[in-house]
Amino acid sequence: MRVIKTVSEMSAEAARLRGEGKHIAFVPTMGNLHEGHLSLMRAARPRANVLVISIFVNPLQFEPGSDFDAYPRTFREDLKKCEPVGVDIVFAPTEPDLYPEGFQTTVEVTEISKGLCGDFRPGHFKGVATVVLKLFNIVKPHVAVFGEKDYQQLCVIRRMVKDLNLDVEILGHPTVREADGLAMSSRNQYLSPDERKRAALLYKFLTEARKRYERGERRAQALIARVQNGLARDPRISVEYVSIRDRETLAPLDTVDRPAVMALAVHIGKTRLIDNIFLDQQKM
Ligand code: AMP
Repeated sequence: MRVIKTVSEMSAEAARLRGEGKHIAFVPTMGNLHEGHLSLMRAARPRANVLVISIFVNPLQFEPGSDFDAYPRTFREDLKKCEPVGVDIVFAPTEPDLYPEGFQTTVEVTEISKGLCGDFRPGHFKGVATVVLKLFNIVKPHVAVFGEKDYQQLCVIRRMVKDLNLDVEILGHPTVREADGLAMSSRNQYLSPDERKRAALLYKFLTEARKRYERGERRAQALIARVQNGLARDPRISVEYVSIRDRETLAPLDTVDRPAVMALAVHIGKTRLIDNIFLDQQKM
């Protein structure tokens, strides 16, 4: 496994690999790797000859006053986790190399970045789209894997790839959860033991809503209200949004008459958590 820390070296290596006819798979991350990230890497591994992952805490996608400085950086531990899952190259650029002085170009995927997290994290998806496009240009992957945990992000990336005719296949990978259902996230470690217990309620109410859907409830508002009311009973949980959207376009739905995603964001104490679940007749 190689660690590459400069944009120029990564770009040259990717060009060389492509020149040799190698297929490149790519998993971008912000590090502090957990089983969720590793499962993306395992899914990517058989899709190519060379597996590249990136570790970069992207300042562009953090709103002012958010947890950019506090975000856990655990580079040494991350490297130890990468090798066993078959990573060939860890690309870990520095901020001044990726965003040199004078940098001013951004990518905005307008409609699908609105609503859900987009309403509460202004500029976030612009930062995500911009860094992912830059990383694609440097790493030159044939295929890239993203988690369904960040479902709106996955939709933003898919839309950008389509709209800008990028020659990369995007794969979504199911959310990896803790034993009690909590979606794995680097931010879970901000939770106190008491908050951590409460955090399991997110998936509990999402799965309850899916059961109601499977029993025939199609009114989005009825499903949403059940989750909202359930979470609101816990005084430490403050709900940002609970929403049911078309699985592809993320358009809000009144009636769940097509493949949909039920997504939510909450604050537990100071920690913001997101999760989602698919509502899909085929899974009944
Ligand atoms: P991050 O390091 O948070 O930017 O995440 C890097 C990638 O890992 C993104 O594509 C995330 O959607 C994905 N990811 C994060 N947590 C999970 C999880 N619990 N299950 C599956 N994928 C995840």
